[in-house]
Amino acid sequence: MADKYDVIVIGGGPAGLTAAIYALRANKSVLVIEKGNAGGQMNFSPCIENYPGFTKISGLELADKFVEHVLDQGGNMEIEEVLSVTDTEGGKLVKTDFGEHIGKAVVVATGARHRLLGVPGEDALLGKGISFCAVCDGAFYAGKHVAVVGGGNSALQEALLLADQCSKVTILQNLEDFTGEQKLVELYRSKGNTEAFFGVTVSGFSQNAHTVDVKVKNIATDEEEVRSFDGVFIAIGLIPESGPVKDVVETDKYGTIVSDEKCLTKDPAIFVAGDCRTKNVRQISTACADGATAALAACRYIDANA
Ligand SMILES: Cc1cc2nc3c(=O)[nH]c(=O)nc-3n(C[C@H](O)[C@H](O)[C@H](O)COP(=O)(O)OP(=O)(O)OC[C@H]3O[C@@H](n4cnc5c(N)ncnc54)[C@H](O)[C@@H]3O)c2cc1C
Repeated sequence: MADKYDVIVIGGGPAGLTAAIYALRANKSVLVIEKGNAGGQMNFSPCIENYPGFTKISGLELADKFVEHVLDQGGNMEIEEVLSVTDTEGGKLVKTDFGEHIGKAVVVATGARHRLLGVPGEDALLGKGISFCAVCDGAFYAGKHVAVVGGGNSALQEALLLADQCSKVTILQNLEDFTGEQKLVELYRSKGNTEAFFGVTVSGFSQNAHTVDVKVKNIATDEEEVRSFDGVFIAIGLIPESGPVKDVVETDKYGTIVSDEKCLTKDPAIFVAGDCRTKNVRQISTACADGATAALAACRYIDANA
């Protein structure tokens, strides 16, 4: 028999955990279902310096504080992977790899994962020389030489931000030109401390004392060389984790879930919060804002349909 809750939150990152706190404080019963480590992407950030209230905190520590807050308010958490969300009597049937749960409303807060290159050495250096987030980690490389892998808008934006604080920025792009907006390209080229290599792929990483060694392969000639940087930022896109609900909500061309300002999807009982939602700024503070909005909208939906 499936257990029943007012609100089921899918995903235990900052968006989902904030949604849980708000729903619990509205006296709703809440289950948070998390497939991995609660805290989500925060767990990959060695030092967060832009979350209000903490001048400096490790992602792991902040994640612990979020979880503690949810448990303190009486929230339930299960480590399971949600596979699907369908209609059932009395609400939504949430099927996981472990069982079934029923919620009167569902908040989808499954986040997004950064697309990886999938080359040797990458996993081991994540957060230790390889980063995905110039806003978050750029300051660690002030005055240093960094590489940005990618050539689209997000790579250019990362590179521009880094160019303002690093001594040099090198873009490594597999295509023959940038694929981002012309204005960003012009701005990048106008900086005195930037360069770009086109038609190259990154085929591996290794750590050498204080630098990251990057194996760079010329696609045309197949020649491989090793270039050293103080840090590497990978900006080849985000993959939204909308899989379990993609058939019941509307997604845009990137796979992110479309919602209105109340975080409501096209299904009146399904709300969305955080990085898996179509929006411009993907940060912890914006994920929390979505979590609060989605939870309160879900509570209003439940009360109106009681
Ligand atoms: C290296 C790094 C550093 C960063 N540094 C900063 C920073 O300094 N400041 C800042 O503001 N932002 C930073 N960010 C961005 C920030 O972490 C994200 O914007 C934020 O975590 C998004 O929150 P979320 O809850 O929407 O998603 P996520 O954090 O992605 O959490 C989603 C959760 O849902 C779970 N999930 C996914 N699918 C399922 C499923 N089917 N079933 C169950 N659970 C599921 C995932 O396991 C995950 O735990 C950083 C990101 C990275 C990767």
